[in-house]
Amino acid sequence: MNFSLTEEHLMIRDAARDFAQTELLPGVIERDNAQKFPDSLVRKMGELGFLGIMVDPKYGGSGMDTISYVLIMEELSKIDASASVMVSVNNSLVCYGLEAFGSEAQKQKYLTKLATGESIGAFCLSEPEAGSDATSQRTTAIDKGDYYLINGTKNWITNGGRADFYLVIAQTDKHKGSHGINAFIVEKGTPGFDIGPKEDKLGIRGSDTHTLQFNDVKVPKENRIGDDGSGFRFAMKTLSGGRIGIAAQALGIASGAYELALKYSKERKAFGTEICNHQAIAFKLADMYTEIEAARMLVLKAAWDKDQGNNYDKSSAMAKLYASKVAMEQTVEAVQIHGGNGFVKEYHVERLMRDAKITQIYEGTSEIQKIVISRGLIKE
Ligand SMILES: Cc1cc2nc3c(=O)[nH]c(=O)nc-3n(C[C@H](O)[C@H](O)[C@H](O)COP(=O)(O)OP(=O)(O)OC[C@H]3O[C@@H](n4cnc5c(N)ncnc54)[C@H](O)[C@@H]3O)c2cc1C
Repeated sequence: MNFSLTEEHLMIRDAARDFAQTELLPGVIERDNAQKFPDSLVRKMGELGFLGIMVDPKYGGSGMDTISYVLIMEELSKIDASASVMVSVNNSLVCYGLEAFGSEAQKQKYLTKLATGESIGAFCLSEPEAGSDATSQRTTAIDKGDYYLINGTKNWITNGGRADFYLVIAQTDKHKGSHGINAFIVEKGTPGFDIGPKEDKLGIRGSDTHTLQFNDVKVPKENRIGDDGSGFRFAMKTLSGGRIGIAAQALGIASGAYELALKYSKERKAFGTEICNHQAIAFKLADMYTEIEAARMLVLKAAWDKDQGNNYDKSSAMAKLYASKVAMEQTVEAVQIHGGNGFVKEYHVERLMRDAKITQIYEGTSEIQKIVISRGLIKE
């Protein structure tokens, strides 16, 4: 048992912290207000290797481990969860999906661009009638010989407007249920592929969330990922790793709010002393720190499981379930510690509180995480 991070991990964490402070922090409130995607910052994150963190260097990636990924995700999310969700989707849903399941030709053509940040990816599973119940896919992909014809609607797609390549899950044979589902790479600009307006959201307002429409979209056969009928397994396995990224995002939101609350409590005076000297506030800080450290252990354990080649379905679901709960509860406490200032944008904690909520919803709601965990327990 070793609870220490390596020198390399510490360097990576510090580089991400530095980037978040110097590049993400300026303008984060304005981007949230205007729902503005951090375009120029995406290029810089690509240069730093943050968009292909775990990808093999032979495909343009940074070749780092999952521990490094969660350390980077935590630091970015402390400051700007809208930027970090973009990083998470590109890394653990799109790049991982292609590297683990794609053909060599697909890796050469798409992964090399995605891992360097030259291109951005999106992962398209959810539909108006298929969210938690992902097997109820209504988007169809009909085999037409040398191409598939895709029709349907995808909802809430992160990077939906800005992506260049979209991994789209669709039903190819509804009689086969989840075994009749496939995943496809669809390029932006393919005729019949339309991007709806950006969603106006409670949190992660800078992130780029859209509905996508597919009307007779022709996708070449070589753009199917993996064997025929492997799309549902592809989606579930990819999401299992994605949950580690979202758990780290939740951890970052919580720890960012905690750090702001601690600092504020040492500066703000009431009744002749700094508010941290009032036991009610000091105990809040103690509870916050303890809960955040517990979440951190679960997040690092899930990342470690993935790096060790262990099954990480249960540990990633546990990390996401717990870290997202901590993020929601502790950001509320951070607002409380800030008093009236917590309610105004300038102090950042109200944004973190709004951003926290999504971590309990996307890549599987908290209820779905409990299904995954309990199934894992019963199977053991
Ligand atoms: C900002 C944002 C970004 C997103 N990005 C993406 C993306 O990039 N790609 C993508 O594919 N999707 C994305 N999503 C979709 C997201 O993953 C879904 O919203 C989520 O999985 C929940 O699905 P749903 O909204 O249809 O809710 P529903 O499935 O309708 O669930 C509604 C409620 O019922 C509960 N529920 C459902 N089934 C059960 C059950 N069996 N037992 C107990 N409770 C249950 C849920 O937990 C929830 O509380 C995004 C969503 C948002 C809001």
